[in-house]
Amino acid sequence: SRSEIAYFGAGPAPLPTAAIEQSAQAFVNFQDTGLSLAEISHRSPTANKILSDAKDALATLYDIPTDEYDVLFMQAGGTGEFSATVQNLVGYWIEKRRRKAIAELGEGKDAEVLDRVKREVEAELKVDYLVTGSWSLKASQEASRLLGAKYVNVAVDARKSNNGKFGKIPDEKEWKLTPKGSAFTYYCDNETVDGVEFPGFPKSLESTTGAGEDDDERIVVADMSSNFLSRKIDVRKFGVIFGGAQKNLGITGITVVIIRKSLLSLVPPPTFLHALSPVLPTSGALPPIIFSFSTIASNNSLYNTLPIFNLYVATVVLQMLVSTFGQKKVSGQEEVADRKAALIYGALDAHPDTYHVVPDKSVRSRMNICFRIISGTPSDGQVVADEAKEKAFLAGAEKRGLLGLKGHRSVGGMRASNYNAVLLESAQKLADYLVEFAKS
Ligand code: PMP
Repeated sequence: SRSEIAYFGAGPAPLPTAAIEQSAQAFVNFQDTGLSLAEISHRSPTANKILSDAKDALATLYDIPTDEYDVLFMQAGGTGEFSATVQNLVGYWIEKRRRKAIAELGEGKDAEVLDRVKREVEAELKVDYLVTGSWSLKASQEASRLLGAKYVNVAVDARKSNNGKFGKIPDEKEWKLTPKGSAFTYYCDNETVDGVEFPGFPKSLESTTGAGEDDDERIVVADMSSNFLSRKIDVRKFGVIFGGAQKNLGITGITVVIIRKSLLSLVPPPTFLHALSPVLPTSGALPPIIFSFSTIASNNSLYNTLPIFNLYVATVVLQMLVSTFGQKKVSGQEEVADRKAALIYGALDAHPDTYHVVPDKSVRSRMNICFRIISGTPSDGQVVADEAKEKAFLAGAEKRGLLGLKGHRSVGGMRASNYNAVLLESAQKLADYLVEFAKS
């Protein structure tokens, strides 16, 4: 039964049991209406209320300045946002330059305007990516696919200074950010596969964040799919924050986008993008309509059929967080997340002859704890994983009801995902088993 297990899966991830129960009831018979929430119109007052409740709770938890930021609910997951962020923000970059050209050259000078923007795209367009793990790598590859690689600046590839593997974030002095005027700077706040989390907002982006109105300002995009709502953030530092729901927020099918409203205001005409295509593929700046941030925003996330039941699950989770943590808001959840992570890392660190934590101490994720089981301390510092022991560890864990601990297929080893709905007592159970296994 549910009370006998602790699930550490990386996503989809556990939900608070009370949220599952309330959602299950709503799926069968929502508030005694005789209808399932999955059966009602996304344009009904009920759906609208769920949507506004979700926005309110999220704004409360994260202190979102709602005069400056909008919250969008979209579909297609984090992966959809790999594409949407590129297309929308490159579109913004182009429209800014198109308008400036019109202002300087005058109305009716279409050919000259096009010519100037073409030259600017070729000479200046860049999107910056900090590649610190598998997901930011995928996002950067999608940018190259849509734009063409010449417009993508990988400002840092963390594998290069770490034996070809992710697990460290190189010193910011080594990052090669575009000095001025990039369309955006992208990073993944928590790398789910590699267990690498930014300790905080990158310092080198700190003083220059803005809406890109001034060429010195950076529009920062962050993928928070796997550490959403797990610590306090300053929303004002970001242009776009996004995350799929299926880890800390709800179930698959809903993606949250928190976006600076000013970024919604500049959208280039499609015909202009078609005409630009000799220098920039149209795919680089013309999103499919369901990926258009401004379209989704101006339709209150109801441009097409939003899965309201899925949204409801997220709304329930959000409202539970608001009522559990009260004035502390997301900082209350942060304290719990930190305590749970400390329990698990504490048990691992206490047994260095048995366990090797994969990422560097400075960037250890509080959400995805990646480790290997080794055969004693190697003399040359090269870690050798003991796959037979890892198998035995997993089998023993399963016997104790500790599930979902196998690492991602691309990296192997173990991964304990310590998302918000993992109870403190579950983290304690895992820590106890880690100690027991090390002693056996
Ligand atoms: N970003 C991160 C950090 C992720 O962990 C994942 C999925 N695990 C994704 C993006 C992709 O999300 P989705 O499967 O929802 O497209």
